[in-house]
Amino acid sequence: MNHRQHITDILNAYRKKSIVPDSNFSVACVIEDTNRNLYPGANIEFIDRTLGICAEGAAICKMLAERGYQVIQNIWLMGGDAQPAADMPEDMLFPCGICLQRLGELAAKDAKVKIISPIDNHLTDFNLSDLLPHINKFTDYFDFKPYDLCGELDFNDIPSALQMLKARSFIPDRKKNEAVILQTQGNHFCYGVYFATCCYKADIPAINMAMYNYLLSDYATEKISRVYYSAENSLLQIHPEFSKLLKDAVLTEIKIEN
Ligand SMILES: [Zn+2]
Repeated sequence: MNHRQHITDILNAYRKKSIVPDSNFSVACVIEDTNRNLYPGANIEFIDRTLGICAEGAAICKMLAERGYQVIQNIWLMGGDAQPAADMPEDMLFPCGICLQRLGELAAKDAKVKIISPIDNHLTDFNLSDLLPHINKFTDYFDFKPYDLCGELDFNDIPSALQMLKARSFIPDRKKNEAVILQTQGNHFCYGVYFATCCYKADIPAINMAMYNYLLSDYATEKISRVYYSAENSLLQIHPEFSKLLKDAVLTEIKIEN
């Protein structure tokens, strides 16, 4: 199978994972790093729209949690319906402003946005730098190199797993070092780290990243029984919508020296 077909198959599979009660508009993204590793994501919506995440953001959550800061080369996107409404250009789907900021923080200078039509699989590509030509990003201010930290996490040793995760955070300004591990009732683990951007509103806190990764995982039908976290100033801010999903969970803070 060729590369593009492989990615198209992942995009089709991930569109089905979208959680879109509000818009009913499914979007999938596959981020491809410069080593050709792939990280899929899909959009997730909540009653509070500000908590939702686009497919691109969800794919970033997968990358940072699994491996740490890798340089993004390609952003593959597919969204909308195979039968589009007559008044919507559903097969042409550009990243929103927040996604451009998030992607731009992590992307190669020549990164491409590749949009695949759900109608006929037609591919159109754009330079990310044409969509956001004057990005203000952290790596222009701090010497912060990509780091591949994809080692296995040992969940029998939660402090060491949290410590490894904290190192995967993207925090060039070193101000917000945190990691969260969620344990499900079936003893599966989902996790998140902090993603800092030059635009505060585009940041993704570790608890949010962990919840997005959980909701798109194969274990989202299992309730969360425990939350382990290590956060700066012991502050774990849980949005009320997440609190509903965490109401049966025990929260445990683990102190780790940075
Ligand atoms: Zn977006």
